Amino acid sequence: MGFAQVGAMVQLKNMGLFKTQGLINGEWANALDNRTLAVNNPATGDVLANVPFMGKIDAEKAIAAASVAFLPWSKRTAFDRCKLLRKWFDLILENKDDLAKLITLENGKPLTEANGEVVYGGGFVEYYAEEGKRVFGDIIPSPFPTKRMLVMKQAVGVVGAITPWNFPLAMITRKVAPALAAGCTIVLKPAELTPLTALAAAELAVQAGIPSGVLNVVMGDAVEIGAAMMDSNEVRKITFTGSTHVGKLLMAAASKTVKKISLELGGNAPLIIFNDADIEIAVQGALYGKYRNAGQTCVCVNRILVQDGIYDKFSEAFTKAVQKLRVGHGLDPGVTQGPLINEASLKKVEAHVQDAVSKGAKVLVGGKRHSLGGTFYQPTVLCGCNDEMLIFREEVFGPVAPLMRFQTDEEAIKMANDTEYGLAAYAYTENIEHGWRIAEALDYGMVGLNETLISSEVAPFGGTKQSGLGREGSNYGIDEYLELKYLCLGNIKQPFMC
Ligand code: ADP
Repeated sequence: MGFAQVGAMVQLKNMGLFKTQGLINGEWANALDNRTLAVNNPATGDVLANVPFMGKIDAEKAIAAASVAFLPWSKRTAFDRCKLLRKWFDLILENKDDLAKLITLENGKPLTEANGEVVYGGGFVEYYAEEGKRVFGDIIPSPFPTKRMLVMKQAVGVVGAITPWNFPLAMITRKVAPALAAGCTIVLKPAELTPLTALAAAELAVQAGIPSGVLNVVMGDAVEIGAAMMDSNEVRKITFTGSTHVGKLLMAAASKTVKKISLELGGNAPLIIFNDADIEIAVQGALYGKYRNAGQTCVCVNRILVQDGIYDKFSEAFTKAVQKLRVGHGLDPGVTQGPLINEASLKKVEAHVQDAVSKGAKVLVGGKRHSLGGTFYQPTVLCGCNDEMLIFREEVFGPVAPLMRFQTDEEAIKMANDTEYGLAAYAYTENIEHGWRIAEALDYGMVGLNETLISSEVAPFGGTKQSGLGREGSNYGIDEYLELKYLCLGNIKQPFMC
């Protein structure tokens, strides 16, 4: 397509939100060497915009700006900072339609899901605009009559945040909002596939009055930008959401300067349906848990374990429900599943299905690329899957549901925990005592009982094992951006006895 047409398909109510430059020290900036990077609509392949392809020097400038901004920002009262965050939240909601449209255009998810993401993503800003006022310290009962012992919490410093493409807004707000509320400044590197939503959100932050240098956005060469963050002594905290592979690289690199680090990495979520489940509720849960965002979330159901007594009934009802899903362009009304993000994702999904079928799985529905072409893939259900298949071990990150049969509770728990990941797990049973014991036995950071839509700004999101470190959201999430400082007051004289 011609260069002049680039951006023509991005029609927003407020075109001021269509930002195509990085944000460094409050100024919209190109890459130092003027290189650019095309942002595509995964549903059509159209180029939506060209954004700067930034590198080491640009990232270092952003870090320097965040560093200068840190002292004045962290020394403001929490009430001051939180007022600005609240304003940012209001602007996010006022511009909900435009943000949702940008999400759908660059990510491909259906508009209803994108609208949901704006509410969810905005929720973190609203939540931390309040929570920032509740960063309490402690006074510890002292074992010594002449000493008093206190703990205060202080902002950790400059934060480097690296985010993925599957939630172009929510992955950003859930890092930026607690960081800013805590008094940190931040350099954000959104995914190169979906930077437009991040830039629009940053423009709204500028409009809300977040001072220059407090929030900086750079994108381009992920390796160079990542290295600039990791090598910097100024950056005291890294927060990352993405693949386990990159997370491990960052964790190793963080050792050079001993940074605080939080990681939200891959998952391999089991959904266990017991004989005593309500089948209708379980089918709905499996549908939302598997096919939202075309299966491209780290908490998406990856394996469906179904107990023998309910297996046939469940697989029939589930297959029928999957047949009703509508694949198409996210902006078209009624569409429930958009395209995959790119060709590499499509190939991975194909490889997982081929591998499963070659090892004995049967396709109940789907199993192929969609007739719409591009990166569209049919919503797929496979039955007769087992632990020798790739799909049992690895995240498929696509619209493929493998059904596996089990007999006993013990077998289900073993299968569910037989993975190096530990992000989210789900179980369906109508018996609360049964559900409670299952929830206790699952080696995961999050468990949904009779529910697969569990994410919320008020709850701690995060995993065990190789799914990551730390938690995001909730009152726990702000701790990731705070250091504890212990203060000992000495030589306190005898207490007044009057
Ligand atoms: P995904 O496979 O979901 O794209 P990645 O882990 O590759 O997951 O990407 C998540 C984020 O990490 C993106 O913003 C990407 O640009 C960034 N990223 C990828 N490689 C590196 C790296 N070596 N250093 C820092 N960031 C990286």
